[in-house]
Amino acid sequence: MRGNVLFVEDEEALRMTVGDRLRNEGYTVEYAVNGDEGFEKATQLPFDLIILDVMLPKKSGFEVCKQIRDAGLITPVLMLTARGQTSDKVNGLKIGADDYVTKPFNMLELMARVEALLRRAPFRPADQTGVFDFGSIHVDLVGTEAARDGVPVNLSAREFQLLRYFIEHRGATLSREELLRQVWGYNADMYTRTVDVHVAGLRQKLEDDPKQPKFILTVQGLGYKFKA
Ligand code: CA
Repeated sequence: MRGNVLFVEDEEALRMTVGDRLRNEGYTVEYAVNGDEGFEKATQLPFDLIILDVMLPKKSGFEVCKQIRDAGLITPVLMLTARGQTSDKVNGLKIGADDYVTKPFNMLELMARVEALLRRAPFRPADQTGVFDFGSIHVDLVGTEAARDGVPVNLSAREFQLLRYFIEHRGATLSREELLRQVWGYNADMYTRTVDVHVAGLRQKLEDDPKQPKFILTVQGLGYKFKA
């Protein structure tokens, strides 16, 4: 699989043609048909890339893009803008889109942009530096070390992997099943309790008040979300 794409577009014909092409190229595609659904799916499911039309019912692509960025999500966004609307391009990039393609577009161009964005490493955990800071916590993702107020924090290898996954997917709601699959490599749902135990461990070591976490949040009925 080359990547998991969310395609937010209200025109059915375009959803079909672009969707088919993406699947033929080896991507998995999920659709949303309006702005509200686009925002919900973008923030609740893990995607490597979001293709977002500007003209959408309920909520414009600009609003969706701004809201997902405000929610802390850093998934790359490719906007589909209307022909000749130069201001659309500027607006889109200003509110956090990573690239844009003008409608009507050439399919090859769209695929090239998609590929380029995905190559750019979908998650930029530490802006090349390999370190990530939140609150009083400093995480060295390369050296696999963490410190709190400058004092080393003793994390187990699994806790560190879990923390890294949270950092790399900050802002996204992550289900216990996904965390198990991605961090432990298990395919079954039977050990979701394992995730809870490790989350509790991380909170104990990283949160000022583990009972009222500020960073590793519980999303009722869905899983967890890391907010930095
Ligand atoms: Ca549209």
